[in-house]
Amino acid sequence: MIIVYPSHHLRHRPPSEIFNGVAEPHAEVPERIEHIRDAVCAISGVRIVLPKHFPLSWIEQVHNPNYVSYLAEAGRLAGNQYMYPSVFPYANHGGVVNAIAKRGEFTFDMYTPVSSTTYQVACGSAMAALTAASVVRRGERVSYALCRPPGHHAEVSRMGGYCYFNNAAVAANYLSTRGKVTVLDIDVHHGNGTQHIFYERSDVQVINIHADPKDKFPFFSGGANETGAGLGSMFNTNYPLSLGTADVAYDRTLVAALKRIREFAPEYLVVSVGYDAHVNDPIGGLRLSTPYYRRMASRIAALNLPTVLVQEGGYNTAKLGLVARTFAEGFLYRQNKLK
Ligand SMILES: [Zn+2]
Repeated sequence: MIIVYPSHHLRHRPPSEIFNGVAEPHAEVPERIEHIRDAVCAISGVRIVLPKHFPLSWIEQVHNPNYVSYLAEAGRLAGNQYMYPSVFPYANHGGVVNAIAKRGEFTFDMYTPVSSTTYQVACGSAMAALTAASVVRRGERVSYALCRPPGHHAEVSRMGGYCYFNNAAVAANYLSTRGKVTVLDIDVHHGNGTQHIFYERSDVQVINIHADPKDKFPFFSGGANETGAGLGSMFNTNYPLSLGTADVAYDRTLVAALKRIREFAPEYLVVSVGYDAHVNDPIGGLRLSTPYYRRMASRIAALNLPTVLVQEGGYNTAKLGLVARTFAEGFLYRQNKLK
């Protein structure tokens, strides 16, 4: 397993997220990825590499170039401060130029601030996903991009949910030039950005298993009735789960999801790996055990597809290393048995 580690992520440390008007400590901290890296690098046979550079056009194929430019420009204006939006669009009034208006135009929450380092670290995270995809495209069976900031909430033109560029979508779109791709999202939160980016495409299947959005962020998408549109009709599947769902019921859902993937018969699999469905996650709401992550990984590996693992959420820094190692070992063990 090749592990891609974007070291620039250490420069990204938003101090707070604004909830209900109050600045609370930001949950998406650098220690998350440091713990995961230390744990998975202790597995025998894994190799760690830094991200390679890819043309910006790979990011601009899934994000509006105006949004990409905004993120670069906003960072230059922000200096050492983290900037938060104040006003969100209430009408479709194109071409706003005011800095306050633009912050709202390109952001959908108050959890995802921008500073002078944001553009660089977001690019580094997307490049990590591209690097992981490229090694799989060259013949590796599995790679793991330790993306930070995470990506699956990032929309075509909006940051949100701690996400700036949609790393999994960038990787899936890159791989789609060589064949059909499935994105399987096991983060506890619905991957709204990934869903919307591929919603009208038939060459990228998107499958989400997540806490029901009627109870959990991102609230405005993730229902079972969202199945794709146009050419993408029936290529998007959501499995919203009740709060408190534990291993057995989750596993039944995973088996159903994997059946859909087998029917689609993709050439590549991209997994948006969040560990926030774990029972001890502070913001998750589901109740998966640590040993279940081994079973989950084993089932996914049994698809026997070239696979890119892309890090998303998971916020219990004390547990993340163990859960990530359990998942990665489960994946590798099953994959080796398939050889
Ligand atoms: Zn999440």
